[in-house]
Amino acid sequence: MSKISGQLQLIPPYCPNSRCLFHLGTNSKFYIKNGFALTDKPPFRNQRFKCRGCGIQFSANTFNLDFRKRVVSLSEQILHYSMNGMSNNSIARLLKVAEGTVRDRLKELARQSLFFEKENYPKKLTEDVAYDGFETFTHSQYSPCYINTAVGSHSMFIYHNTFSPLNRKGRMTLDQKIQNQNLIQKHGFYPRDSVYEETLYILRDLDLRGAGRTLYTDEHKSYSRAIRSFDFRMDHEAISSKVRRDASNPLFPINRLHNLYRHFFSSQQRETISFQKHEAALIEKIQLMKIYRNFMNPKFVKKNKYDPHAHDWSPAMYVGVANRILNFEEIFGTRKFKTQFDLDAKEKQFVARIYPYSRHKMMA
Ligand SMILES: [Zn+2]
Repeated sequence: MSKISGQLQLIPPYCPNSRCLFHLGTNSKFYIKNGFALTDKPPFRNQRFKCRGCGIQFSANTFNLDFRKRVVSLSEQILHYSMNGMSNNSIARLLKVAEGTVRDRLKELARQSLFFEKENYPKKLTEDVAYDGFETFTHSQYSPCYINTAVGSHSMFIYHNTFSPLNRKGRMTLDQKIQNQNLIQKHGFYPRDSVYEETLYILRDLDLRGAGRTLYTDEHKSYSRAIRSFDFRMDHEAISSKVRRDASNPLFPINRLHNLYRHFFSSQQRETISFQKHEAALIEKIQLMKIYRNFMNPKFVKKNKYDPHAHDWSPAMYVGVANRILNFEEIFGTRKFKTQFDLDAKEKQFVARIYPYSRHKMMA
């Protein structure tokens, strides 16, 4: 979709019907113009089309993220505010919309960002990768979790950040122990192998792209177990956690990113209403953060004398999947359907918001 002088001059990119031959897109002109409808929102004229393959009718709005949304153009502001650490409640107050609207938009943006990523992901690793988990929590300290993060050593491109629920361990007061036991009795344990499973998922993906490259991790047992459990062909180097994490430490890129996370999650955790702490919301935010950092922002804010492009290249530019910093329209401008993508089991669960281990009810 291209925008010319504010008017949508739309060339339909594909047929919205998932059973149609033209659903995955085509170079041929598969549609005919079919009149237009007047609307009460800009651009006030909605071009209608008919598919020559299957005969269904659709309109220019079908491809817009604000499709069937009462308030248009909110999504972009919501994304920027949320990615800069503002809570959903604060955003809702600022934009004078319901909190549910904010939640709804973030959910849809997260899905669309996954579809965008599927089409714009490096096929081959051109650098080494650092991998580690960032510990935080959802809902309460009784539900700690890991954000498993794989980041490019040079580009700072976030290849993966996935979520692992953890069972609370370690030092607790007697009251806390009782509370923790009560929760376990009511809900059961969180999956005990999640860090291993998520690591395996990420390593399999990196391994497909990473021949000849090195993966740096710390000495976490789940990591070495995952590496040993299949024919992992990348080089692996485990860095002792006793080694200082300064700029010369191969795991330093992880620390830099986790500093950003710390800021982001601390502000997210100020929320007091439990439904905002459902795992789904957190996972959707880390998915969005991946796209936001990789494609929509420079690698670093400040100039860096050793890395002349750090302040004007995005991580995606370093790894060759973008040729400029992308704006909202370029990433989210054309709405896509899940049926257009070959999603794995994990991605399907993400799109459907299925989190079997969650202890919290999801608000629709
Ligand atoms: Zn069709």
